[in-house]
Parts: sequence; structure tokens; C-alpha cells
Amino acid sequence: MSLENIEVRGARTHNLKNISFNLPVNQMTVVTGVSGSGKSSLAFDTIYAEGQRRYVESLSAYARQFLERMDKPDVDEIIGIAPAIAIRQRNQTRNPRSTVATQTEIYDYLRLLFARVGTVICHVCGREVKKDSPESAANETLENLTEGTRFYVLFPVKNQETKDRIQVEAVLIELLQEGFSRLFHDGEIIELSTPDDFKLENFENVFVLVDRLMMRGDIKQRLVDSLEVTFQNGDGNAIVETVDGQKLKFSNKFICEYDGTPYEEPEPRLFSFNSPFGACPVCQGFGNTTGLDLDLVIPNPMLTLADGAIVPFTKPQAEWALDELKKFCRAENISLETPFIELSDEQRKAIMEGKGRWRGIKGFFKFLETKKYKLHVRVFLAKYRGYTKCPECNGGRLRQEARDVKIAGKSLPETVAFSIKDAAVFFENLKLAPEQTTIAERLLHEVQSRLKFMLDVGLDYLTLDRLAATLSGGEAQRIQLATNLGSSLVGALYVLDEPSIGLHPRDNTRLIRILHNLRDIGNTILVVEHDEQIMTAADHLLDIGVHAGELGGNITFEGDFASLLQSRNSLTAKYLRGEAEIKVPRTRREVSGKKLKITGAREHNLKNVDVEIPLEMMTCVTGVSGSGKSTLIHDIVYAGLKKQNGDWQGHVGLFKSLSGGEFIDDVILTDQSPIGRTPRSNPVTYLKAYDVIREIFAGTNAAHAKGFDASHFSFNVPGGRCEVCQGDGTVTVEMQFLADVELLCEECKGTRFKPSVLDVRYKGKNIHDVLNLTVREALTFFKETPRIANKLKVLDEVGLGYLRLGQSATTLSGGEAQRVKLAAHLTKKTGAKTLFIFDEPTTGLHFDDINKLLTAFRALIDAGGSLLIIEHNLDVIKTADYVIDLGPEGGTGGGEIVATGTPEEIAVNERSHTGKFLRKYLAQTNGHYDLKNI
Ligand code: ADP
Ligand code: ADP
Ligand code: ZN
Ligand code: ZN
Repeated sequence: MSLENIEVRGARTHNLKNISFNLPVNQMTVVTGVSGSGKSSLAFDTIYAEGQRRYVESLSAYARQFLERMDKPDVDEIIGIAPAIAIRQRNQTRNPRSTVATQTEIYDYLRLLFARVGTVICHVCGREVKKDSPESAANETLENLTEGTRFYVLFPVKNQETKDRIQVEAVLIELLQEGFSRLFHDGEIIELSTPDDFKLENFENVFVLVDRLMMRGDIKQRLVDSLEVTFQNGDGNAIVETVDGQKLKFSNKFICEYDGTPYEEPEPRLFSFNSPFGACPVCQGFGNTTGLDLDLVIPNPMLTLADGAIVPFTKPQAEWALDELKKFCRAENISLETPFIELSDEQRKAIMEGKGRWRGIKGFFKFLETKKYKLHVRVFLAKYRGYTKCPECNGGRLRQEARDVKIAGKSLPETVAFSIKDAAVFFENLKLAPEQTTIAERLLHEVQSRLKFMLDVGLDYLTLDRLAATLSGGEAQRIQLATNLGSSLVGALYVLDEPSIGLHPRDNTRLIRILHNLRDIGNTILVVEHDEQIMTAADHLLDIGVHAGELGGNITFEGDFASLLQSRNSLTAKYLRGEAEIKVPRTRREVSGKKLKITGAREHNLKNVDVEIPLEMMTCVTGVSGSGKSTLIHDIVYAGLKKQNGDWQGHVGLFKSLSGGEFIDDVILTDQSPIGRTPRSNPVTYLKAYDVIREIFAGTNAAHAKGFDASHFSFNVPGGRCEVCQGDGTVTVEMQFLADVELLCEECKGTRFKPSVLDVRYKGKNIHDVLNLTVREALTFFKETPRIANKLKVLDEVGLGYLRLGQSATTLSGGEAQRVKLAAHLTKKTGAKTLFIFDEPTTGLHFDDINKLLTAFRALIDAGGSLLIIEHNLDVIKTADYVIDLGPEGGTGGGEIVATGTPEEIAVNERSHTGKFLRKYLAQTNGHYDLKNI
């Protein structure tokens, strides 16, 4: 253990109160505290920001010129800081080509691996294609010929078809000049001293004789030299022919020697779908193209053929095709009354691809393609076009020559189609030839270690070719974590933002092991966390508080976990000791007749499941990462209900039926996405309280005197706002390669308004002062205006009393954004018959914040609403009325309903991972009940 420290002196970023503290080098420090207390301000905006500056400083002079313009954190000094790497929650990937394999660099290593040790299998004849060198050709000759055999080393004469005697002589003179004086034809040697010695008409089957040899152990060097000359002069070809006519053919080009199929020599860029050299020419490396989209042709496979499962066949123009299909089905005994999806695989294939006289749905569209010169046919076809798997590469993204390169019989696209778990097994069991092993060793090691790290962070179910843009924030963060572990960088400072998000308690120990690993190889770790297990794994803890915003920003505790438990000042310690706690409710709401019923859910990994979701209560959906929670809730329940209401155009997951929609009027999904993308959106605009504030300002005498109306106090329209920054208060400067930087607007100095507008005051404050009030301060300030105060009160109730009214949407964390949205719903008072869906609402929340959140949830239910929550946090799960546990594992090992019922019922279910943790947890919680009594 090292005793060195990173020393931070006088940090004042945002709400930090001029604090000083140490981070022990090569140790893991966990920062705790309620939401808004200043954890991110400390970890990211101070320490990481400074580490980043130091890092840039160490780069080129070119990079350094931007340094001055980077925001300097408000801190006196930081001594001993290392280059910093931040691993954050948000999935920032927008690149449609980026996949799990490319992000983790596994793809780069696989490209090298396939280039170095892959074998090319000719797609015409299925034989191995390889390129010979003089050395390899000599070895093969030595292996194949018996001792004492006489043989010739030959290459074919060029211009084989030349008949013209003048041309023939020209070729012969050239050969003589190059020193070749013997030709070979049909087993005979032609000695050549002048062109006249050649009596044949042309060069058909005529070879140049380079050398004559007898097979013996010691001829290798001479043979290699001769073959070298042969390849050089024979356009890369060499033939070894024995006196009895046995032939061996060699080529130093990449060509199938048997059918002449040309190949590219495998090199890393051949396997890059981002390079025009490697990308599939049909889809340009995207893996999909626009073509016949079967999801549009058969949008609802629960329908029967008779009910119009095949949408294009229900159109009058295609009536004849439907008649043909029906005839075919009767002949083949295919039921017209069975849902399409329940027909056998073979029957569905026959309908799609055709059989006998029936040419299939695909054949029907092919036929229409030939009639495309007619406008109405083009219109008809356009309706069924969409993104589909590229027919050329079948989604593999690479050109044929790249797909023909195999390792252990698998192509590169086939290996990246593996789940991480299967890929790990494949590479583990890979047997290579000894000479290949040396080349591949390091590459395989890199691939395997990265796969192992991803297994360790609980991502075994992801496929390597999964698009990065479709990953959840937690998955994306854990991939970054695994990537960094794989890079085995040492001496760095890693700053992480709630890495436990999206992770089932079962996988927390693995996450902790990874963090410890990263530390043990020689890095300093700084983690912002709320999870108790991770706190116990820390070497050092910093608790920030006591409360949020202006009431926070102090260090309430610094030290190890055992001392934290003794701390009198820390709110975190009070929860850990159980003095403050999240209570288990004494009674649970009873399941009534009102529920949603889903049958036959089978999107992604869901295994044809039936599930009931009780309404007018709090239901938690649980299960390990990848078990299918988001798929069930987002793709089926949310999208399905929206679609029934007619306001959903997007994709809806596959299911058979969804009933119970009549019990709800509205469904609202509250996730962690930002409440707005510009600095002009903020909590009060989102809650629509700002309109009232503007009216108040417009109603003052000063405003009347200047002729200002409410629009002059808006930063969204010209008039009163500062026009230089258009009311943002900041201007964005684009940096060449660093992230864009925000600079204070020079014109208005960040006040966002023109001086004349700022002269207008209400109760002594101008509009900028008001936007700078915290919610709690504003509550007092506006206490005579219930239309504002009532809305602000709700913000305070969901734990956001510390936010400033005008704080820009772009600076709110995901958790804060989610709670602003929750507050907006609470102020509308239209909770009755509304289904509220939340996805990990506890992200960013301390025990104390969760208590507040649960109070807000209760208010929603009391108003007649229903709550459906995806959650891993046991404090939330234990307070639910009903739990639906998915799993048991992630990916193909999941997708089933493992258990349903009250938390107590889940706790006694042996198959449920959630149950095991819940059992321990319920037993730990102070005395409300005893598990033995249920
Ligand atoms: P935590 O990470 O503990 O939830 P933060 O460090 O994000 O807390 O926030 C601490 C305080 O600083 C809060 O009052 C928050 O509103 C404020 N704050 C955070 N980011 C900014 C910013 N970019 N500009 C101004 N205030 C901010
Ligand atoms: P959870 O929400 O429980 O973590 P998900 O519903 O996200 O689980 O995932 C369930 C399964 O479906 C996983 O195997 C996951 O990899 C897969 N999956 C989820 N989203 C997609 C997608 N957009 N494309 C392909 N597979 C997906
Ligand atoms: Zn393709
Ligand atoms: Zn301005």
C-alpha cells in the first residue's frame, strides 16, 4: 500500500464549499452523499477536469493551444494528479457502424488474427487457397517426391496463343537474352541456341526449363533458388514436373489453383467494414440494405392467412396472388385459420420461398420488380420496402473474399455473431498449428482477456456484433470499463459514475472484483456510488453533504468504511446503521380485477411468455441484466398500449395479445433522457411555471412604463433577451478535437437579458436574480402566488429543492431529469387511470432521496395512477406491492417469468436471483416483520 496522496486544496466548483481532502494513490475511493450534494462537482467537474487538463498539457504543442480555453475548475491546487479517464453513464454512441466488438477493440484484434492465421476457403470449390513462396514450394516438393526422382522446374512461356512466326521469334530472342536456353514440351527438352531451333508453331504447352534436379536430401537451397527465378520470370507461376509426368503447381498469387477464383491476400484492412476495401459492396458495410421488409409484409404474425396476415395480398391489385396462395395451401394442407406464427417452420418457409407451382411471397415481389416501369407497381413496392439484412453478406458487412477467410471453420462475421459467453468458449477451445500459435498468441490473449472482462461485468448475453447505439447506459458504461481494463494502462486516475446501474445485486461482487483489479494493476479509482456493497469495498470514502445544493458541498466524512459507520455527521452513516431507513410497508395493496394481460410475448429473448400486470398499485419488474425487462416493458407494454391508442408509429415487440388497456387512459414513460437539449430549457420552463413568472414581471409598473409585455421576459423569442447568446447566457465554441466548450456570453455576462429588461424588478429582484434562486428559496419568494408555489413545492418534494430555477437542462443529471418529469406529472393532478412507467428511477439517488421518491410514488397511486418500475434497488423492490421477476439468466438463458407475487413471495422462490437477495435484505431490515412468520 502506498502512502502517496492526490491532494485537493480549496475546491469551490458549483456548490463545493472551499473543501480540501486527499485521494490515496492506487486505492479505491468511493464518494457518497445525497443527490445534488456535490459528488459530481467534486469527482468530474473538479478532479477529472483537472486530470484532463494535465493530460492535454502532456500532449503536443498543437493540443496545448486549446488548454487555456478549457474550463479551469475552481480549485486552489491539486497536487499529484494523474492523467484521468472518465467512465460515465450515458451511452453516447450514435455511430451506426459501431458495435460491441469495435468498441472493445476485440474487432481490431480479430482482424489481425484472421489476417495472420486465417485460412482462405474457396467459395467455388471449397478447397484451401494459399499463396506459395519459393521456400514453401520447395518444402512441398521435398515432401511429395521420393528420393532419386528426376524432375524439372518450369514456368509456362507467355503469349501461348501467338502463331505469327515473327512474334514467336521475338519471344525466343527475349528468353535467350535473359539466359534461358532450354524449353520443355510434352516430356521433351528443346535445346535453344538460336530461334531456329524452335520448330513448333506456337507456345501451347511449352515451358521454360529453369533447372533439372534429382531428389536428394541436400538439394533444398538450390531448389529454393531455382523456384525464386521461376516465380520471378513466370509471372508468379512455377511447375515441378517429374520425368514420369507427375505435376505440382505453385503460384505466389492469391488464386484458387484449381478454378482460378481470385482472392485477396488477407490483410487487416480486408476485414474492416469501415474501409471500402473490406466492406460488402452491396450494403457498404452497414449489414443492411433497403429491400423487401418482411415486417411490413407480415406486420402481425398473430393473424391467420384468412384474416389477412399477408398485408400486400389484401390489396385489390394482388387478389390473384391471394387466390393462388389459398389454392396452394389447400393442396398442401396448410391451415388458413391458424395464426401465421403458429404454422410449422416448413409451412412458413414454403409460403415465403415458394414450393412447386407456388412461387412464394418472395417470388411474387420478384415478379413485380420486373413490372417496375409501371408507376402503380412502383408505388405498391415502395410500401413494403424497409431496412433488411443485406442479401449479399447476410448482415456480415464484409465482402465475399473476407468472409471466405476462416479460423476453425468460422468466418469473422460468424465469430462476432457469437454471444460473449459463446465467443469465450470458442477461443478457449481453439486449436492452432504450432507455427500459428506463436503468431496468434498475443492476439488471442488480447481477445480472451477482453471477453473475460465483459463476462466479469455481467455482459455475457450480448453478442459481439450488437450495435453500440442500442445498448443501455449501464451496459455502455460497463463495456467502457471492460475496455479500459483490457488496455492495462497503469498510473491513471479512473473516475466512474455509479457503475452499479443496470446491474442486478448478483453481479455486484463481480463488478467490485473488476474495480479492485483496475486498482491492483496500479491505478487510482474514484467512484461516485450509492450502493452499499460498493461502499464496503472501498479503501477510502468521502461523504459529501449534508444536504443538496447550497445546503451541501461539505465533506461530512473522510476515512474507511468501519469509521464511516461510527460517523455522527454523515447522513449516509445514519442509513447504514439503520437509524434512518426505508421502511417496508406493513401491508401491501391487494391485486384487484384491474390488470393488463399479455400473452405470447416473444420479442428478443422473451420465450413466449404470458404475464399479468396488476394496476392501481406499485409493480416492480426485476431480473438480472439482459433477462428481458426492457424488452417486455418498453417494446411490448409501452409500445403496445401506445399503438392501441393510435399514437405510436415505432416498432412494437412481438406478442399475441394485450388486454386491459380499457382500465387506463394514458401511459407515460419517464426515463432518464434530458428534459431539453438547449440551455434554454430548465426546470421552471418544463413545469410551465415560467409563464406565470413572466406575467408577474410584465405586470410590474416598471414594465408598463417601458412598454414590455410577457414576451420580453422570454429567452426563447427575440425582444428582451440578449441577442449575442440568444438567451443561452453562454456561447459554445467548437474545438477541433476536444469536446465543445461553453464560454460565458461576453455581452450579457451570463444574465441572458438586455440591460433594460434587467432594470425591471419584482420584490427587489430582476428576472436573472429570480432564475438564480433555488427552488426552496423561490418557494418563499413566491409564497403569495400559488400558481407558482404549488408547482415548486412538488419539485422540492421529489428532492430537487436545491436546483436553481433557471439551471439549464443540459447540466441536469439523468436522475434529476427523471425527477423533474415526475414532478411535472405530479403537478398535473391527472394521475387517475394513468400508467406510469419508470426505468431505474433510483439512478443517482441516495437512500435519503429514495425515501422522498417513494413518497412521490405513493402520491401517484393515491391519485388513482398505476406504477410499473424496472428496478434493481432492493429498497424499492421491498416496498413494491407486486414483483414480476424475469430470468433466470440474461440473453438466451433468460426471457422467462421466474416468479410473481409480493416481495415476501419472491423472497422464498428458490429459482429467483432477486429472491435470494431480497430474502437477506428483508431479514436485515429493522424489525418490521420476520420472514419466519410468513
Ligand atoms: P451530485 O453529483 O451529488 O448529485 P452535483 O455535483 O451534480 O451533485 O451538484 C451539486 C450542485 O451543483 C447542485 O446544486 C447542482 O444543481 C449544481 N450544479 C451541477 N452542475 C452545475 C452546472 N453545470 N452549473 C451550475 N450548477 C451546477
Ligand atoms: P434487461 O432490460 O432485462 O437488461 P433487455 O430486454 O434489454 O434486458 O434484453 C433482453 C435480451 O434481448 C438480451 O439478450 C439483449 O441482448 C437482447 N436485446 C435487447 N435489445 C436488443 C436490440 N435492440 N437488438 C438486439 N437484441 C436486443
Ligand atoms: Zn452486404
Ligand atoms: Zn448573452
